[in-house]
Amino acid sequence: MNPSLRRLRRTPALRRLFTETRLSRDNLIEPFFVVPGKSVRAAIPSMPAVYRFSVDTLLTEVEETAKLGIPAVLLFGVPDKKDPRATLTAQKTGVVPTAIKALKKAFPDLVVMTDVCVCSYTNHGHCGIVVGGEVDNDATLPILAKMAVSHADAGADVVAPSAMMDNQVAAIRAGLDAAGHTKTLLLSYAAKFASAFYGPFRDAATSTPQFGDRRGYQMAPPNVREALREIEVDIAQGADAVMVKPALAYLDVIRAARERFPLPLAAYNVSGEYAMLKAASANGWIEEERAMLEMLTAIRRAGADTIITYFARAAARMIG
Ligand SMILES: [Zn+2]
Repeated sequence: MNPSLRRLRRTPALRRLFTETRLSRDNLIEPFFVVPGKSVRAAIPSMPAVYRFSVDTLLTEVEETAKLGIPAVLLFGVPDKKDPRATLTAQKTGVVPTAIKALKKAFPDLVVMTDVCVCSYTNHGHCGIVVGGEVDNDATLPILAKMAVSHADAGADVVAPSAMMDNQVAAIRAGLDAAGHTKTLLLSYAAKFASAFYGPFRDAATSTPQFGDRRGYQMAPPNVREALREIEVDIAQGADAVMVKPALAYLDVIRAARERFPLPLAAYNVSGEYAMLKAASANGWIEEERAMLEMLTAIRRAGADTIITYFARAAARMIG
């Protein structure tokens, strides 16, 4: 007897009934770039429909995010002054602490996450402090810990270290606990690859390295076992949730992490993935909404619990 698989797909209701992977607005995190100033809504040419906002315009924007039922936002600070030691990362009146306070006041139920890295704050654009021409791992750790504490002081629910420095999770967890922030969650960018898909983000965050590249600390794209080691180490150091970044070219890494570790797993649908789809759609080469939902569903199917995506609101509007 030849089984019929088409019976399962005959009507929309049957297809709905037998859907294996669901994408819900509960699975989405919307990233935002925050800059100093007032009434700023600065377009990012390589990321159509994504902007850099000052705190006042951010509040208006996040109102829609919250209304659509998206549970969380992730903030990236883009300061106007940069220096070799990323001094502004610890400034209590900096753009990120100010944005956190404003958001938590306006939307108390919204989960506010923050990126913890120095690359937008250093004039050389690296994710660590440079000593003798090299990124110095251990000199960077106290700066990351201080930055995370300043975000938690302002009310951040989750801090998300993305610098890929060894032992950053342990240093940040210790810093948070010592400051009394035992309830602040730590979402680690555990497996972050040195990817060409970050190009548009570097425009947005003005964080392009001024010399060399990030291959000395971000992971080599061919390595999946090493990614699992990175995740294992971060879990041992106290990460509450872990992330794989980017998402689309790394669905196998997401799957491997899902099968190996029980912790909540996030995937970052990065700027280049967004820009490719937007560009193809602008040229009439692809159906944007269908491709977007297919892409986000694939990331869920690979095993991600939650997806950081510039499509968060567009997807939430469609899936209701
Ligand atoms: Zn960085």
